[in-house]
Amino acid sequence: MVKINAIISDATEILKEHNLCNNCLGRLFASKLGVLSHQKLGKKIRDTLRKNNPKSCFICKNIMSKLDTQISKMHEMSHDFEFSSFLVGVILQPSILDRDDLIRSKFKLQGINSIKGDINREIGKRFGRKTKTSVDFQNPDIVFTLDFKKEECEIKPKPVFLSGRYTKSIRGIPQKQKPCQRCRGKGCYVCEFHGISEFDSVEGKIARFLYEKFGALQAKITWIGSEDETSLVLGRGRPFFAKLVNPRKRTLRLDKKMELGEIVIRDLKIIEKIPPNVIRFRSKVAMQIQTQNEIKSSQLRNLYKLEKQPIAIYENSGKKNERNISDIRYKKKSNNSFSIFMKADGGVPLKRLADGVEVTPSLSSILENPCKCTVFDFYDIVVTK
Ligand SMILES: [Zn+2]
Ligand SMILES: [Zn+2]
Repeated sequence: MVKINAIISDATEILKEHNLCNNCLGRLFASKLGVLSHQKLGKKIRDTLRKNNPKSCFICKNIMSKLDTQISKMHEMSHDFEFSSFLVGVILQPSILDRDDLIRSKFKLQGINSIKGDINREIGKRFGRKTKTSVDFQNPDIVFTLDFKKEECEIKPKPVFLSGRYTKSIRGIPQKQKPCQRCRGKGCYVCEFHGISEFDSVEGKIARFLYEKFGALQAKITWIGSEDETSLVLGRGRPFFAKLVNPRKRTLRLDKKMELGEIVIRDLKIIEKIPPNVIRFRSKVAMQIQTQNEIKSSQLRNLYKLEKQPIAIYENSGKKNERNISDIRYKKKSNNSFSIFMKADGGVPLKRLADGVEVTPSLSSILENPCKCTVFDFYDIVVTK
């Protein structure tokens, strides 16, 4: 039994000067009386005082009694999105907040839930019930922003993150896609907000597959290493991460292997987030080398020296990186060409390893014969953490 007598004189004072709806009236006293339902408490106070419902509430201008309209709008906007949790953000007209403050200070009311918090709570409760989902403050699948000022509802689904690998068994497909020329990848009507408008690369094919499958707007891909247009990517394939922007689906069953024409996606998995740290990896590679001068088998033996010391790589920034290569094998193909197989740390620029541009030692320096890498292929890529 709520001890309504404790607040009845305050309530009488307030109602004498201002019309309030049951929600706002109840809210002013709910925390003091330890009551959860503002609306019920307001009605109870009103019944006790034998006051009729007012036409318009001084504080909220009847927003509280029109929340179902907002909830329908939210429902309509989100019905084709998959989510099990949500969060509501509310933007109110400043005048409502001002009137709320005015009542509190005028009648010296303390420890009262804000009207914003009340709207949030009410909508959360009712929308959750309607959609069988729940409010999550930490990590909601979807965030609604209800702007009462502009009468707008905005919806922002949490991105879906994926990890996977791809293999490419045909030459002539570039790894990366040029962004849409008009928006430079941000998304515009020309590219239908995908950020890219052509799909003839590994990136284009994976991105289109993912945003169609998940009903997303964009798929942003992070690569573990890079390759040439002419490179093959074999073995278990190259690992990548993808962030899907505005996904409609978030819990799909994914096949172990998905063929997208010339490339195959493997081991695609939904993950919590993309790891923030640098991912180290080693690649098993084959390079085809042309030499300027004739090469003898006995000279090729010198290639083993590359395993014995770190390879220094000088970047444009002036930074020097050191990487290692190992497990070298080679095969002479003609008087001016050979193949070399090796395991190389991620970050070894393979073409420069051949010609020696800002890389020492290089195939050219070790063989004392200018070398050029015509094609390089990946036989496997192993993440080493
Ligand atoms: Zn009200
Ligand atoms: Zn565009």
